[in-house]
Amino acid sequence: MAGPLHPLIAMKKQPPLPPELRDGQYRNWEIEMAARFPLALSEMRSPSKPLDTFDTEPLARWGLEIHAGWRSIVERLLVRLEAEIAVQPADQRDRFRIRQIKEKFGRLTVHMAWTPGIRAALDEAENESIATCEVCGEPGVLEERHGWWSPRCKAHVTWTPWDRLG
Ligand SMILES: [Zn+2]
Repeated sequence: MAGPLHPLIAMKKQPPLPPELRDGQYRNWEIEMAARFPLALSEMRSPSKPLDTFDTEPLARWGLEIHAGWRSIVERLLVRLEAEIAVQPADQRDRFRIRQIKEKFGRLTVHMAWTPGIRAALDEAENESIATCEVCGEPGVLEERHGWWSPRCKAHVTWTPWDRLG
């Protein structure tokens, strides 16, 4: 499902990331979030499309596609989204299940249907994300580095997913 590699990444021939989880399998924090926010993250608990198929929704397939520095932003966003979805008529709530949460051009990006309340929560979280180091959660600056946009603090300017945290 991934598009062609960015030429710079393809050239660098990075070592592989740790073994990938299969579609629909998540790590500890994601499992906790899926349990706490059953409406907003229902796609992780009961996928609307079969796993391991072309149609699998990104959230069901990959879970929460962010680095650790944005976890508290996403957690606070999910609190608001869960409340916004809960006040919808029961037969409408499923329409608001999140389809994807990821980083795009250095911004937190969430794909879902929205109400004005949901839109406001998404906008605030996005604005917070571009000023928050995606590695550690400290204040960061959104800049382009080697073709990639990401918000980083001074300590993590050169961090890549292949580095250990520290
Ligand atoms: Zn940092």
